[in-house]
Amino acid sequence: MRYGFDIGGTKIEMAAFDDRLNQVFCQRVNTPTADYQQFLDCVKTLVAQADMTLHTRGSIGIGLPGVTDPISHKQLSVNVPCLSGHCLGDDLANTLDRPVTIENDCRCFALSEASTEQTRAHDIVFGVIIGTGAGGGLVLNRHLYKGKNGLAGEWGHTPISAQLVQRYDLPLFACSCGLSGCFERYVSGRGLMALSQHFHHQATSVPDLLTHYRQGCPLAQRLIAMYIDILASALASLQLMLDVDAFVFGGGLSNIAEIYQLLPQAMRGWLFAHSQPAAILPPVYGDSSGVRGAALLDG
Ligand SMILES: [Zn+2]
Repeated sequence: MRYGFDIGGTKIEMAAFDDRLNQVFCQRVNTPTADYQQFLDCVKTLVAQADMTLHTRGSIGIGLPGVTDPISHKQLSVNVPCLSGHCLGDDLANTLDRPVTIENDCRCFALSEASTEQTRAHDIVFGVIIGTGAGGGLVLNRHLYKGKNGLAGEWGHTPISAQLVQRYDLPLFACSCGLSGCFERYVSGRGLMALSQHFHHQATSVPDLLTHYRQGCPLAQRLIAMYIDILASALASLQLMLDVDAFVFGGGLSNIAEIYQLLPQAMRGWLFAHSQPAAILPPVYGDSSGVRGAALLDG
């Protein structure tokens, strides 16, 4: 039995999966964000309830936003402040008396979506999350590729190309990661709105901008075409580096139907003439991929 945890700033979702990945148990509680011991006790209670209900001792995988220092094992988590500075994995392993694997939530999403029927024939799957931020994860033959610093898949913080800057006369937006011109600042929800404001569209939100686009507003049409081209440039770079078989989208902006219609053609403009763009796929499990991917972590 595998237990997965999806830990967010407001809720903890915990689910248990049997060997065929059927979900057999699920709990959702508020996240204790202020007190570290309270957080550990909360996870301990959830695991004890699952163990008792299912008469087993499940393996534990945990997905949460933020990073774990690969040397000190200390956690840095903006959403759940009480975790920062603590060796969360070690402390949970002691508390729960079993191994615990912790991974960034975007990587859990990628692992889950690379383990579905629609990606069965694809060996190299890249999970692309575009929501409030832009993250991702690389999965090779259904195994998460982590990298030396556990950062593999952080495409959102690579810089946009000079060609994009020139083509659209783009400003170099500063990024919260300390770099500037990161893709995240253009292709996340906030990024799309920053573009919209920069080019003087009156849209107040992404859905509002899409409404204008679908009603034929010329400026909204230019903005969405620009957005798709920027996204296409990022994904084409990943494809040139990794020769990806499939990109699976997640996050709030993955609900935009036009992405799946327009992106393959837009990517062709950034690839060699003879190469075919990778498959561009919507998520199968979507928001539920957090717990599912966490449960699939194999240490
Ligand atoms: Zn950045």
